[in-house]
Amino acid sequence: MARRVCLVHYHEIGLKGKNRYIFENRLVDNISHTLAADPAVDRIRRVSGHVLVELTDDGASARVAKTLLQVPGVARVSQAWRCGLDEDEYCEAAVRALGEAGAFETFKVHAHRASTSYQLHSIDINRLVGGVLCEHFPDKKVQMHQPDVQVNVLVNQGDVFVYALSERGCGGLPVGTAGKVVTLLSSGFDSPVATWSVGRRGAVCVPIHFSGRPMTSDTSEYLTQDICQALAPSGIVGRLYVVPFGARQREISLVVPEKLRILMYRRVMFAVAERIARLEGAKALVTGESLGQVASQTLENIAAVDEIATIPVLRPLIGSDKQEIITRSKQIGTYEISSETAPDCCTLFMPRRPETHARMQEIHAAWNAFDHDAMIEDLVSHVEYIDFDQCPSYKAPKCLRHRHKELGPAWTDGGEDPGFSIPTVFADKLEQEGQSESIAKGGSET
Ligand code: ATP
Ligand code: MG
Repeated sequence: MARRVCLVHYHEIGLKGKNRYIFENRLVDNISHTLAADPAVDRIRRVSGHVLVELTDDGASARVAKTLLQVPGVARVSQAWRCGLDEDEYCEAAVRALGEAGAFETFKVHAHRASTSYQLHSIDINRLVGGVLCEHFPDKKVQMHQPDVQVNVLVNQGDVFVYALSERGCGGLPVGTAGKVVTLLSSGFDSPVATWSVGRRGAVCVPIHFSGRPMTSDTSEYLTQDICQALAPSGIVGRLYVVPFGARQREISLVVPEKLRILMYRRVMFAVAERIARLEGAKALVTGESLGQVASQTLENIAAVDEIATIPVLRPLIGSDKQEIITRSKQIGTYEISSETAPDCCTLFMPRRPETHARMQEIHAAWNAFDHDAMIEDLVSHVEYIDFDQCPSYKAPKCLRHRHKELGPAWTDGGEDPGFSIPTVFADKLEQEGQSESIAKGGSET
């Protein structure tokens, strides 16, 4: 008797040549992890260019498919009927498949044989199944070009998979195939989408959030945790770091010109994020910046902050409009959370009028107006973290292997501050740079 399965298609992995098995194995592992708690899932395995999810309950396929669609690397999920090579059995399954495809006027059958050992050719299968469907749906038309519904018949060794219900998945590559990144995560709309975007391309994401604690409430910390939970089906987040930044921002605000505060905050944030990245073995930082969106996102200001980083800074949303970002945030389930307002470090001690054309010399002077090295050290030593179970590829750094189920300080549980030295690149550049360079700033936000 035909049984319900979910058939996972993964086009892009198919392009990976000799490394293909690494991508496929990772995809199977990630899918297994994501579906581990679902009681209706029986077995997960590879079958000729697909991943097959076998179910104990035919009625669970829609739920399982919905979860699968969110797993990076999944190009498409089909709710299929798995039959034997018996013609009556798979023709009957085709009738069921077409019957569950919703309203339609036109259809066609598309047969494909993964192995040629089956006696019927694809064209014969098309005719056979098509004939049966015409008998069952006499008022519907067969249409070869752009039909409303396509009934697929995939013959694979001893199995025939028949399906019409098929949805496009999130695409991309399996998480864990593109290394690790540290993402700067606020509770706004942009950075969750930026995090998801690099996760979809196979990166394991380790978000870091700068909260205004103790000068503000810890609401933003809970919102960023909710964001990480919302991203669970995609399996991209291993751990969230939180840095209480409020007191240090106050210090900065007291000693640097008001108009330059934001750039100083952001330089410190980048330096701390980079320290965490080195600790984690992450090879890039990621932000949710989009060109010209706010004052800190002019090309000049981006350059002024990037000066601090010695690893690449990725900005996957740099060319996106806010509306596109919001549409994506709805799709990935972070929109509602990001709609809540919470004070975080970026809402603290904001200048009334950020400078629009600051000279590099002024920026460097402001940077040297406080002991930034000591501040960065101190922030790293007070970092906190919480772990999420969603990402099987995430490996915690050795010195912070202890798992935290709730947000807690990093260095009080046996972990040792690895004491990485602060990148000296910036200091060297400071010496070399002339005074004529200027930094343009605009707008009024970070
Ligand atoms: P988002 O950009 O996530 O919607 P936002 O609009 O509050 O948040 P921006 O001022 O646009 O933040 O900041 C640009 C980027 O800087 C963010 O996309 C994020 O990557 C990073 N960032 C801003 N605030 C924080 C924060 N409190 N903690 C960590 N990263 C932050
Ligand atoms: Mg933003």
